[in-house]
Amino acid sequence: MFCMTRRNTGFKSARERIEETPDIAETEMHWVKSGAGELVESVLGRRRRSAMVGTFAPTDRMSVHTHIAESDQGEPFTTRNKAFPSSGDLDVFARQVSTTNIRTFTVVSVDEDGKVMGYAGVRANRKFVDECVRNNGRVVIPSKISGLVNKRLSIALLQHFLANGYLRLKTFPMQGYRFDKKWNIFVKK
Ligand SMILES: [Zn+2]
Repeated sequence: MFCMTRRNTGFKSARERIEETPDIAETEMHWVKSGAGELVESVLGRRRRSAMVGTFAPTDRMSVHTHIAESDQGEPFTTRNKAFPSSGDLDVFARQVSTTNIRTFTVVSVDEDGKVMGYAGVRANRKFVDECVRNNGRVVIPSKISGLVNKRLSIALLQHFLANGYLRLKTFPMQGYRFDKKWNIFVKK
């Protein structure tokens, strides 16, 4: 499905916007948000594990996308750290901070029924923005972690940016959920 949409009709909470989105339990979705505004769809295509990012306005400050729930049976590293941005996400964020006014990148964890479990928001410090501009919108992976793969690389890269003052991270569980710090996912209380 490829459709470029960007609409804004009537004020709705972020959670309402997310949960009313068709196929939200099965495919990822991407929105943008200005300071106090509501979520606006910004997507070129949706797949199970990716949403192709759409257009931005100069007033947009936040990029928001979903991670869907998946069974962790037999494949632990595909699900752990699921609430956090992947290394691919950080690359997307690097492009966004270099070319738009987006400075916050939010991952929404959605459960099997399409309900929001919680949000993980990453905010770019000046250091991150400067570095991304300097590197033409790409993140530089430190050599000490560049040999890691997939989820291991993702969490190591995020930790590198957090520990060195590039990014700040906050997690917001919905009511009835808590953030599990061991596996970096939202779980039912
Ligand atoms: Zn993602």
